[in-house]
Amino acid sequence: MSSFAAPLLRLTITQHERIVAHCYAGLPDEACGLLAGPVIGPLAQREATGFVSEVYPAVNADASARTYTVDGRDYLRASRDSEARGDEIIGVWHSHTHTDPYPSPTDVSSAVDPMWVYMIVSLRDDIPTLRAFRIRAGEIAECQVVLDGG
Ligand SMILES: [Zn+2]
Repeated sequence: MSSFAAPLLRLTITQHERIVAHCYAGLPDEACGLLAGPVIGPLAQREATGFVSEVYPAVNADASARTYTVDGRDYLRASRDSEARGDEIIGVWHSHTHTDPYPSPTDVSSAVDPMWVYMIVSLRDDIPTLRAFRIRAGEIAECQVVLDGG
């Protein structure tokens, strides 16, 4: 067990479909994108509620089957759009083309924002699997993901 709590993440079925479709479209490379949602709490303890208001498919600037970097312009666009609706970027998602939906050592070492949710979609099997995590100082906690209708 990790020493910190991870939020329950609420995705709509439509958001889930957009994420998975973008992951398949990115093959053979890893695909990535951003999650936006409301953030609450005082400055030092800001926390995403876990509600996802929007998903933003992005270009993988690495164009790699093993790593990803969200394209800077896509990041800026998503950040502005989410702020315009009073939300923030609360996390990032990417695909694993041939491995489990679990953070790789690279994913863990490159996870810099303790508030972010790190979502991973595995395309290894016929049915895609999606899991989400908090990563803090090398420690991993899984977020439960709930799919809502709509
Ligand atoms: Zn990864």
